[in-house]
Amino acid sequence: MRKSKGFKLRTILSMLVIGSVLLTAIIGGYLAISGNVRSLSSNYLENNYGYAKKLASNTNDLLNVLQNNMMSIADIAGDESFSQKELDMLFKGNEQYFNSIIIADTSRIIKFVSPGNTGLVAGALITSDASLQATMYRKSNISEPYVGATGRLILLISAPIYNDKGSYIGLAGGTIYLQDDNVLSRMLGEHYYGNGSYVYVVDSEGRILYHPEEGRVNEIVIDNAVVNKVISGRNGSDQVTNSMGTTFFAGYAYEPISGWGVVSQTPISVLDKPKWDLIRNMLQKNIPLFFIILIIALRVSSYISKPLNILVKFSEDALDSQKANPPSLPKVNSFIYDVRQLHKSMDKYLDLLNAEIQTDSLTGLSNRKTFDRTIQEWFDEQIAFSLILIDLDYFKLINDEFGHTRGDEALRYVASQLEAVASAEDLSFRYGGEEFGILVKFGGKQDAVNLAEKLRKKLETSEIFNGQVITISIGIAFSCDNIESPQKLVEMADAALYQSKNEGRNRTTVYSDDEM
Ligand code: GH3
Ligand code: MG
Ligand code: MG
Repeated sequence: MRKSKGFKLRTILSMLVIGSVLLTAIIGGYLAISGNVRSLSSNYLENNYGYAKKLASNTNDLLNVLQNNMMSIADIAGDESFSQKELDMLFKGNEQYFNSIIIADTSRIIKFVSPGNTGLVAGALITSDASLQATMYRKSNISEPYVGATGRLILLISAPIYNDKGSYIGLAGGTIYLQDDNVLSRMLGEHYYGNGSYVYVVDSEGRILYHPEEGRVNEIVIDNAVVNKVISGRNGSDQVTNSMGTTFFAGYAYEPISGWGVVSQTPISVLDKPKWDLIRNMLQKNIPLFFIILIIALRVSSYISKPLNILVKFSEDALDSQKANPPSLPKVNSFIYDVRQLHKSMDKYLDLLNAEIQTDSLTGLSNRKTFDRTIQEWFDEQIAFSLILIDLDYFKLINDEFGHTRGDEALRYVASQLEAVASAEDLSFRYGGEEFGILVKFGGKQDAVNLAEKLRKKLETSEIFNGQVITISIGIAFSCDNIESPQKLVEMADAALYQSKNEGRNRTTVYSDDEM
């Protein structure tokens, strides 16, 4: 299974920033839109309720007028001399309220009817339950809708007729043809909006008396929750879904004379446009802002992650590096405490590590590795230099006589003397065991010899311990001699050293071709 390398800090920071900006924008947008929708919804509910109430009150006024007018007509019709002509005149005066007016006797036989074109004629019997009830109860009444003899859906407003002596002699009835142009539809139909809002009226049984779609008049809609509430005498507003699956903001009001309910409703789809307008508006306003925040955020996250990234890149490169030179830590600029501290610690640690790698632990001089690297570097850079190679004379005897610890002490002493004679530009090193050396930078033949002799003389005249003196044998070679590699130079210095040993030790030999 492949092990995940993980995400880059920059990626995580950027995603975090983008995520939080987006989330904030989405939550903010959602809250703004839902707040707006809520306030619009309650506005629509309130408006529809107010409107239904107003229309219920108008209906109430209208029904009062209708009943009063019918009572006045009944009053006039009580007169013995009442004639068709008089009824025609009365009808003319009430044309805007009633589709027709009839005068019938106690057996519901029509005596007069106006206008003449209704299909009803004098002498016919009115068979409707509404008229039967009117003659039975002998009082002013508004009927339920019924289908009359002419096949029309009718509402009958009736009033009892009494003669001069106070005897009941019949009924006066005004009809409203619910499916034709009528006083109700004229009053309610004038309020019709382009946004899909409309009003309908139901009777106390939940039967539609008025609806802008005429075909729906006489339909029973008792299952509708709002209708159910309004005909039980309640007023208010609600969100309601009708039988066709459309949801409305509905306001409803009860009309007490008739027990009718007025419902005014607006489809909730009216919110779609303001909702989308708001979304579009918010996007238009916020997208540039979003990008500005995004750019700032990306810059900040880049600023935070860049120094860390440099350190990461450095450590990756350092691991892959084949170079002999220890890598040096790149500079990073960061105001973040953690990053600065990390950089400082890494820098310190690298220094320590480099010192450890380059130094011989016993003597503190540069080690063989550093020597190899330096000589190659100087060689490559064509720097003129001399190599002084040193081997301690009869050192085995020191170890044998005084032990290894003392031997080590002697090695450290010789090392300190090397440091003392060499200049800061030179490289003093331990080549291995009891062999040392100095790379004399820019050192000519005579400089190197002087330095070697100075060291040799210093050692032959100093006592290291117990009257013990250590001498050294030295071999010197020069880089400017025509040589092809650093190894060759080492071999030359070694050969010169060998000669010093052979010639009796405690001496300095400079490499020369002809002698060797
Ligand atoms: P020569 O004059 O021919 O150089 O004689 P020598 O005894 O010095 O011979 P050689 O150079 O072969 O001896 C090296 C000795 O140095 C052998 C070993 O005991 C000793 N030696 C090497 N490294 C160390 C060390 O780190 N500490 C101690 N105490 N002795 C060491
Ligand atoms: Mg040796
Ligand atoms: Mg030796």
